[in-house]
Amino acid sequence: MQYLIDHKRKFIHRTTYANDKCNFHITEVGNREFTQDMAYMKRLKLEKGYQQCEYCSILVEKPSEI
Ligand SMILES: [Zn+2]
Repeated sequence: MQYLIDHKRKFIHRTTYANDKCNFHITEVGNREFTQDMAYMKRLKLEKGYQQCEYCSILVEKPSEI
């Protein structure tokens, strides 16, 4: 699973489930980063206050409701 980090708004998206509601496209390309490094993302959340985006994480938790 690859993730898209929005450094401007401090959100972490799942690229597979990212959609229009995520609004990561309004962040400049230079402030976006793709990664699969779980340790790096965990550090961003714990130390820098990044959040898992609710719009693309909900789908993963409830796949049967799609
Ligand atoms: Zn998202």
